[in-house]
Amino acid sequence: MVQINDNFLQLQNSYLFSDIGKKVAAFRAENPDARIISMGIGDVSRPLTPAVIAALHKAVDEMASAETFRGYGPEQGYGFLAESIIRHDYAKRGIRLEPDEVFINDGAKSDLGNIGDILGRSNRVAITDPVYPVYIDTNVMAGRAGTFRDGRWSGIVYLPCRTDNRFVPALPETRPDMIYLCYPNNPTGTTLTREELKRWVDYARNNRSLILFDSAYEAYITEPDVPHSIYEIPGAEKVAIEFRSFSKTAGFTGLRCGYTVIPKAVTAWTEDGREIALNPLWNRRQCTKFNGTPYIVQRAAEAVYSEAGEAETLETIGYYLKNASIIRKGLQEAGLETYGGVNAPYIWLKTPQGMSSWDMFDRLLHECRIVCTPGVGFGPSGEGFLRLTAFGDRNLTEEAVERIVKWNI
Ligand SMILES: *Cc1c(COP(=O)(O)O)cnc(C)c1O
Repeated sequence: MVQINDNFLQLQNSYLFSDIGKKVAAFRAENPDARIISMGIGDVSRPLTPAVIAALHKAVDEMASAETFRGYGPEQGYGFLAESIIRHDYAKRGIRLEPDEVFINDGAKSDLGNIGDILGRSNRVAITDPVYPVYIDTNVMAGRAGTFRDGRWSGIVYLPCRTDNRFVPALPETRPDMIYLCYPNNPTGTTLTREELKRWVDYARNNRSLILFDSAYEAYITEPDVPHSIYEIPGAEKVAIEFRSFSKTAGFTGLRCGYTVIPKAVTAWTEDGREIALNPLWNRRQCTKFNGTPYIVQRAAEAVYSEAGEAETLETIGYYLKNASIIRKGLQEAGLETYGGVNAPYIWLKTPQGMSSWDMFDRLLHECRIVCTPGVGFGPSGEGFLRLTAFGDRNLTEEAVERIVKWNI
């Protein structure tokens, strides 16, 4: 009798986006002429830039001729891209990495999910709350989350991020082995300062924990005291794996490319206490289960770092950040309490008068014809908040904000 992985039956179905869809469909059926504006999407809307498109075309043409055709590439990614990444994203900030410490992938979600392959089943996991659901669900699949009761997993250490701690998670009372941190944060749009991140790095070093640092929104950082990479913190190269992506940086959500940095100094322990480097383990895992990111996609990613590519990418990010600032200022003008939106394309809105996330969602839909994402969908500490995204069209964003400003809440 073939058995399934029972852990999959533990997974909680997320009805968040289908519930949103149903509510919007019902509203539309009753109000067929209503112009609904979506501020709920977590996907980019601006097209790939000309430098990226040119690189894609060129690479496609190379595939058409026997002399320049490429078949299987290195599982870890091509050296040309790893070297560009190191030069532009790390060396410029004083971080030294070797090309074999960078693993190119088909987007950060894959590696964020797969990294657990090389880590023990009995590790205790800590997550910030609210959170990007991938960290939890992949640990449920691996059997690390325990059982689900009253909206929480028994085996997971929740690190609440709310207004009372200014969205800066306190060090945990129960010692975790694996700590997921995402900064700039999705969904709250908030960040950690250098000093705040240093406390986590020091904690991990003193407690033999591993930090899984998701910096998918690094390109949106505008403030000087916000670290772009966890490796700006001394000692992090021993205790942190960093995940980056071209998705939100350069519009690669459909093209698919990201990378994972595992310095050779990062270690974990065997059950009997032997210290083992994680870089060769991950390399072995990738060589067995992954056959590389498409050549044409890696050439496109390389073009993000070209002179034209960098300028174009900055412009696109500036477009989204301008949207974010329009949303933030408009909501404040309307007397609403907002967070984020300065170093991230997300605005985290506190519902007024203690309204629940879903009540406020309904009112925004019915009274302003705006769709957002209820914060409670990202975890228990998201209750009483809404996430608005800045990835939309400028005119629609302005119109949505005008509606909220005129709104009698
Ligand atoms: C969008 C996003 C990613 C990137 O995912 P890709 O698979 O690279 O598209 C990673 N982490 C967070 C928190 C995100 O919001």
